[in-house]
Amino acid sequence: MGVKFVTNVVVGKSITVKQLKDDGFDAIVIGSGAGLPKMMGIPGENLNGVYSANEFLTRVNLMQANLEETPTPIRVGEKAAIIGGGNVAMDAARVAVRIGFKKVYIMYRRTEAELPARLEEIRHAKEEGVIFQFLHAPKQIYNKEGYVGGMQFEIMELGEPDESGRRKPIPTGKTMDLDVDTVVVALGTGPNPTIQASMLRDNMDLETNPKGYIIINAETGETSINGVYAGGDVAPTGSSTAINAMGAGKRAAKAINEYLSK
Ligand SMILES: Cc1cc2nc3c(=O)[nH]c(=O)nc-3n(C[C@H](O)[C@H](O)[C@H](O)COP(=O)(O)OP(=O)(O)OC[C@H]3O[C@@H](n4cnc5c(N)ncnc54)[C@H](O)[C@@H]3O)c2cc1C
Repeated sequence: MGVKFVTNVVVGKSITVKQLKDDGFDAIVIGSGAGLPKMMGIPGENLNGVYSANEFLTRVNLMQANLEETPTPIRVGEKAAIIGGGNVAMDAARVAVRIGFKKVYIMYRRTEAELPARLEEIRHAKEEGVIFQFLHAPKQIYNKEGYVGGMQFEIMELGEPDESGRRKPIPTGKTMDLDVDTVVVALGTGPNPTIQASMLRDNMDLETNPKGYIIINAETGETSINGVYAGGDVAPTGSSTAINAMGAGKRAAKAINEYLSK
């Protein structure tokens, strides 16, 4: 259909939305996703052998980093702790099993009843041998010559439901140590602020919510800036799924067609 792909470009750094507008683009769609990982903020998080789930999955699935002959291999160790209980944690755990880790733990701070992952994902992870440990919250990662040398968890108990409606984990003061050499953090992601920040620098008044998601008209994808549209994970429009992002693209295309036909 004549779409031109321009690769190796970081919008907001290599080129800005303002420059694109100035270059004559009448409509722009921002679909930059929500790929900025949330980390734990505990001692030892910067050690070698700690990955965000996004980095771990991208490097293994797209770059074959589990194979030693690749230019940027990861160290496939013996035992991995996956932190979190969502679908991405299940993905990371199953990938860790498949690339050769002998023991893979899902460490989750609530109980099985509160696991946010889909039931099939949990069942598949169990079938592949993933070990689930509930009521464990990350406390620190031990340093073994710059690498992960084990991890300490605080044992939790469940209290009253919090704002999410799920029972809140409460620290008991008791701890346990887990013998692992790799830690994968799967605690969710937020929008990468590169584009939003560059638009702010260019005095373009793009409306975002406090978490940095771009506020849009859900019917059309319109942002607070005329001719600039957004959709998919970068917009706070609910569940983050591929089909949701595709729908957002179609709605934006329809709205842009109408905008350009005026
Ligand atoms: C591990 C994992 C498993 C998932 N499994 C499922 C699943 O089974 N089913 C499902 O429906 N959904 C799944 N999802 C969610 C799904 O991937 C997302 O909802 C969907 O990809 C969102 O599409 P998007 O186009 O908004 O963003 P993305 O697909 O994230 O695409 C955004 C793109 O923009 C690029 N980008 C970002 N910033 C810039 C910039 N400044 N300049 C240029 N380019 C930029 C990024 O590199 C990326 O290529 C999963 C997500 C993860 C992380």
